[in-house]
Amino acid sequence: MSELYAATRMFDYGPPNTPGETLDPGQIVELGGWLNDDKLIRLNLVKKIDGRSKPCQCGKCGKQFAAEFFLSGHGNKRHRGLTAKEQLDVSIAEDKKMDTVMPLHLDKTAATRGRRKRA
Ligand SMILES: [Zn+2]
Repeated sequence: MSELYAATRMFDYGPPNTPGETLDPGQIVELGGWLNDDKLIRLNLVKKIDGRSKPCQCGKCGKQFAAEFFLSGHGNKRHRGLTAKEQLDVSIAEDKKMDTVMPLHLDKTAATRGRRKRA
């Protein structure tokens, strides 16, 4: 079963003990069945792609994105000759935006799920 998801933040994804691939927000990824996949879904770090979305592809590196908006953000960050520091600054700004439109489900971490409220 291979279902496609889109990353909601920049993070590295891949098999255990490898550096993985750095995903940008909106980048389409096929989950590999690794140990943490369920956690990525539960915390909203990836969102399932529905059948209505029309993926678009980066003309420079071939990566696929869930929407034109994300492709544009990726292109501005990765293919304009920015330094690593500048790319990081853009990523931090992207994360802040995404915190507003697609918040992470931080109430669903293992720690918060295991916590009991005290009376
Ligand atoms: Zn690209």
